[in-house]
Amino acid sequence: MLQLISNAFSHSKKTAIVDQFGTYTYKQLLSKSEQIASFLLNGRQDLEEARVAFMVSPGFDYVATQWGIWRAGGIAVPLCISYPFPSLKYVLDDTGAKKVILGKEYQEVLAPLQKEENIDLISIAAFNKDANFQALPELDAARGAMILYTSGTTSLPKGVLSTHANIESQISTLVKAWQWSSTDYTLGLLPLHHVHGIINVLSCALWAGGTVQFLHPFDADQVFKIFAEGKVNVFMAVPTIYFKLISAYESYSPKRQKQISETLSTFRLMVSGSAALPVSVMEKWKEISGHYLLERYGMTEIGMAISNPYSGERKAGHIGFALPSVEVRLVNENDEPINPGESGEIQIKGPSVFKEYWGKPEATQKAFTADGWFRTGDVAIQENGYYRILGRDSIDIIKSGGYKISALEIEEVIRTFPKIKDCAVVGIPDEEWGELVVAGLVAATDFDSKSLMDWLKTKIPAYKVPRKYLVIEDLPRNAMGKVTKNELKKRF
Ligand code: ATP
Ligand code: MG
Repeated sequence: MLQLISNAFSHSKKTAIVDQFGTYTYKQLLSKSEQIASFLLNGRQDLEEARVAFMVSPGFDYVATQWGIWRAGGIAVPLCISYPFPSLKYVLDDTGAKKVILGKEYQEVLAPLQKEENIDLISIAAFNKDANFQALPELDAARGAMILYTSGTTSLPKGVLSTHANIESQISTLVKAWQWSSTDYTLGLLPLHHVHGIINVLSCALWAGGTVQFLHPFDADQVFKIFAEGKVNVFMAVPTIYFKLISAYESYSPKRQKQISETLSTFRLMVSGSAALPVSVMEKWKEISGHYLLERYGMTEIGMAISNPYSGERKAGHIGFALPSVEVRLVNENDEPINPGESGEIQIKGPSVFKEYWGKPEATQKAFTADGWFRTGDVAIQENGYYRILGRDSIDIIKSGGYKISALEIEEVIRTFPKIKDCAVVGIPDEEWGELVVAGLVAATDFDSKSLMDWLKTKIPAYKVPRKYLVIEDLPRNAMGKVTKNELKKRF
């Protein structure tokens, strides 16, 4: 039996999920998912890795559906609930999912599918009928479990097929490293079509027998209200969410701020990831909560690979050390390990690494070295043992005038300049320099870029100082809140 499921049997009386509709035990989750599995099997013995897509509200329905697909032997394809139809269609076509389970909130957006004869649209309400339980298949962990799409930060999202063994390794590694236990209570507000929300938050909590309370959509005031109830002790989010929480906090009265800070100080763990955590956000959050955020690094393809320590110093601007059971190395262009102190591409090996890019054998082959290391495309350097990300090779490492410049390092400096709210540095094609360093800025109205440029010249070498500045209302971002730098480049 899948370990997530067998673990659930040992916590059956405990509360697993709290959502807008109610509170549910592990027993209810097991029973509902068994019912869904039986419904999907409909007399057959095994779905045999058929892809089943689903778009249901975050909470009990989501988990019961996901577990139901798994228990029937299918590959789960969670759809992003905020996507418009064309993006959903892309995923459905790409995975070839013939069954789509949907909650009633999503009937409208998926309505065009009704015309498609070969698609079986199943309303989640169909599972409310009298259950007709049947024997479920015995599953081997080497089977495909889930296709998740990458965030689409650099190009079109790629479908990542992970096996149950991959997922179990991703979960168990984090459960150990971050000391998840059955007394943990976490708030689920990250999207559930992405590794961060599904693995790090939801599945780790459920694996350990903890409780996940869902909040959707995100609302900073609501988050603080839930925190004030005193149950949440583990919290994970992306940097943009911490940024929004900080802004909301700053708008509160000193009395309310004090209450919030007191509650936050009782938390066991707070984590940030999915994009670089600005040092300024980490410092501000420490002031507010008393916690050094634990920053970690991972990808859809590998789960989490590098993490700051649970006990021990969490270093601002750094992602920490290789997690147990994950092998990490830094290499040069020829896949040769670099000398200490040099920067190189992060490559990963281990049981958590995905099986393949769905339907893209060539991309899969290119993503691995001959001896089986996965090429992340991210560049890092190791400092006193701690890895520090310099950025994505394709986009954050700007090749200008013979130099390789880390956009992330420049962004960190710009963020400390008064009147700057946010920024993103990119390289644009330039005849003279190869690429020209430029910056997109979110700034106060009376900001003037000349003063920033003059100031930067006193802080960083001249070749790193952006030559052009564009003040914009907001940085372009994708559904995970990551800055889509290719979009920004187009604006220059
Ligand atoms: P796509 O592959 O479609 O372009 P994506 O790479 O953003 O999108 P994800 O798998 O969601 O898709 O994100 C993984 C990437 O996120 C990593 O390769 C890395 O660039 C970035 N990332 C994750 N954690 C961190 C972190 N702590 N600091 C900096 N970058 C991070
Ligand atoms: Mg990627």
